[in-house]
Amino acid sequence: MMTQFLAVKEQYPDVLLLYRMGDFYETFFEDAKIAARELELTLTSRDGGKDGERIPMAGVPHHALDNYLPKLIAKGFRVAICEQMEDPALAKGLVRREVVRVVTPGTVLEASMLREKQNNFLAAVVKGPKGFGLAYCDASTGEFSVTELADAARTRHELDRLGVAECILPLDAARLGWVPAPDKRLAPADLGPEWQSALPDEIQVTPRPPAGFELEPARRALHQQFGVASLEGFGCANLPLAIRAAGAIVGYLRETQKAQLPLFARLRTYRDARCLVLDGATRKHLELTATSRDGSFKGSLLALIDRTKTAMGGRKLRGWLLAPLLDGLAIADRLDAVEELVEDAALLRALGDRLDGVRDIERLAGRVAAGTANGRDLVALCDSLLMLPHVAALVAGRRPALLAALHPAPGELVALAGDILDTLVEAPPIAVTEGGLIREGWSQEVDALRALLGDNHDWLAEFEAAEKARTGVKSLKVGFTRAFGYYIEVTHANRHLVPAEYHRKQTLVNCERFITPELKERETAILQGEDRLHALEYELFVQLREKAAMLVPELQAAGGRLAELDALVALAEVAVARGYVRPSIADDTRLAINEGRHPVVEAMLPTGAFVPNDALLDTDADQLIVLTGPNMSGKSTWMRQLGHIIILAQMGSFVPAQSAHVGLVDRIFTRIGAVDDLATGQSTFMVEMNETANILHHATERSFIVLDEIGRGTSTLDGLSIAWAVAEHLAQDVRARTIFATHYHEMTGLALHHAGVRNYRVLVEETEDEVIFMHRVVPGGADRSYGIEVARLAGLPPKVVARAKQVLNALEKNNKLAASLRKTLASEEIGGSQLPLFEASRG
Ligand code: ATP
Repeated sequence: MMTQFLAVKEQYPDVLLLYRMGDFYETFFEDAKIAARELELTLTSRDGGKDGERIPMAGVPHHALDNYLPKLIAKGFRVAICEQMEDPALAKGLVRREVVRVVTPGTVLEASMLREKQNNFLAAVVKGPKGFGLAYCDASTGEFSVTELADAARTRHELDRLGVAECILPLDAARLGWVPAPDKRLAPADLGPEWQSALPDEIQVTPRPPAGFELEPARRALHQQFGVASLEGFGCANLPLAIRAAGAIVGYLRETQKAQLPLFARLRTYRDARCLVLDGATRKHLELTATSRDGSFKGSLLALIDRTKTAMGGRKLRGWLLAPLLDGLAIADRLDAVEELVEDAALLRALGDRLDGVRDIERLAGRVAAGTANGRDLVALCDSLLMLPHVAALVAGRRPALLAALHPAPGELVALAGDILDTLVEAPPIAVTEGGLIREGWSQEVDALRALLGDNHDWLAEFEAAEKARTGVKSLKVGFTRAFGYYIEVTHANRHLVPAEYHRKQTLVNCERFITPELKERETAILQGEDRLHALEYELFVQLREKAAMLVPELQAAGGRLAELDALVALAEVAVARGYVRPSIADDTRLAINEGRHPVVEAMLPTGAFVPNDALLDTDADQLIVLTGPNMSGKSTWMRQLGHIIILAQMGSFVPAQSAHVGLVDRIFTRIGAVDDLATGQSTFMVEMNETANILHHATERSFIVLDEIGRGTSTLDGLSIAWAVAEHLAQDVRARTIFATHYHEMTGLALHHAGVRNYRVLVEETEDEVIFMHRVVPGGADRSYGIEVARLAGLPPKVVARAKQVLNALEKNNKLAASLRKTLASEEIGGSQLPLFEASRG
């Protein structure tokens, strides 16, 4: 047995192998230790090791696989399921076993392992001399897309945006010195600089032999998968890098999914869609999908705006949020639709009601394509498709293109819904092979078989009544078990009344069971009838499912359009509920916001408590804002709200403001705080400088930059000098719209030297012994930091606060440093810092 196990394991060194033995899936050796640790199983052992050693072993009951598998997958393991391929009772010698599927984070299909409102993408990347090929698929929805990307940075952004669950790469594991093991992961940092720059830091990498990424095998794999002789129709025939990546995906799916290979309706080739780039740091700082404090969804921007009614709408909205548009016309299309819905409350409500009845058409279509959809899935699909005509009627004659696209309802899908309705009963069972699926009146043959069975059941009832009367046994019963078939049951007490022609079949504690030839004859008729009925129902069901499978591309398209509608309706609902306005989008570099609000903070405060603030940024006189103000005064809130307003506007949403003008932003950069850098083990200052360098290298005139507390991780004079030079570079050379929040009040001197720099502060009111945060952003620089007041609010003991004040007073009285810093920074010496260069070039 162990020889067999080892032979299988040899093929799956980097995968956790679950090995079916009777009622258990067992793991052995290192796998057992890992499984025991990760799943909290008892580690046992068995005989059979080398030199009489015992083999570590841990197992889970086969019926509990559905509980354990998701845990392993969630932890990033890849798991091979090795089944017994024959009945152990019948097997001659060792039971034949085979790996039937390798479940991996990027290939799961089970609803229990998928998140409803998130896609689960498997990606493949190849590197060529002039760029990268990227393919990705969601096996659960049948989406399969490819593209080619110009460079590593674009590739990284795209993977980042997609949030892929697993990424396969052509890697020669041996050359990397990687010893495969189920719990040894390759991180981008292990792969050398050329891969590292193309991959998000936290991506799960699965190394694959490079041969599967070669052009010809990849092309063949795609031809076979789609049953085509050319990739021309998919638009990628001349994109070798894209083909290589997509082919590698098909190869990987074949190897891991075996019989459950998903079907894809098509391969979508897309041009690297340029969008507003939001890298990982910015997503985190702006709390787009999770709060930066504890990573929870609640409290994120997405949680606030996600009022979608369907899972596919939820996935769409998430996609929009993480990839806002750069194309003014496309943004206007969405805004037009949202505006129409905002202005027509009845329409909005009616569409919302209809969407409530729509299920996850995309994933249902995925199951239809894969041939795993059951009766309930088809009924759910039918119910959803029946909403299409209602939705179409509601949007008929509406001007916005995205609404008009839903009219008319696709005839073939409505017809399909009709077929499902006619064919299947309202609430079919989960099993598809045990009958009870087909509606009465659909098939004469089914009805005839059912009638026949009905007659036979009537006969049984009559037979029972007749036998009762004949024998005088009132408690006589006719019953059925799978093992024994139909029988007559008589209690021991009445045994003396049993007629001679009854054959005893079985004796139980209280009774005996008998058969008669007459009864057996009926039994045969009934069982044969049932078999035929079930087979026939299954056949009719499969016909229906195949009919639906022909329409998978149409189903996916309709699902996509409904998802879009759902997202638009959600945006309109938020806009109405929270009083958002339509932003004006322009192809310029101005950001002008009137009475803007932070969407999430506003929602957490009592109505009217949030203090709105204006903002004006451009590439001329208001290019860089130096923002000062104490902690807790609302600086971060203001900066984040500007980011949110830009993102919402470019994703096609209304925004929390009186009015907003958003000149298209190509990328938002943020450098905020340093709290969680500690985890990475790098010095906080290094991380901060890395991120700052990245911003200075990549920002353009179209970017929006938020910098908070640059230069804090080093000595005051170093820090101030770095902050000064960074701000100066941004103001003079990059010219991106920038907010520079700082504790160095000396930074306000920058405005003396640079025309595009403005000072703002957050207003604080002082009473006798207290500061009140007004949360108002006003022109001018703050002159003190109120650190001690904030410390008092935070609960530092009064004695310590009083002492700190004393020390501060003494320091301030004798502090010549601050004054001299200010003087120096305002002086010619600093202002003329660039002069020597000019002089040099002049001379
Ligand atoms: P730190 O520098 O310590 O991060 P900060 O100045 O950035 O502080 P915020 O975190 O933005 O301060 O705000 C602190 C709290 O003040 C927020 O949690 C919020 O409750 C409140 N607040 C901020 N801005 C406003 C506003 N415009 N209206 C009402 N309350 C606000």
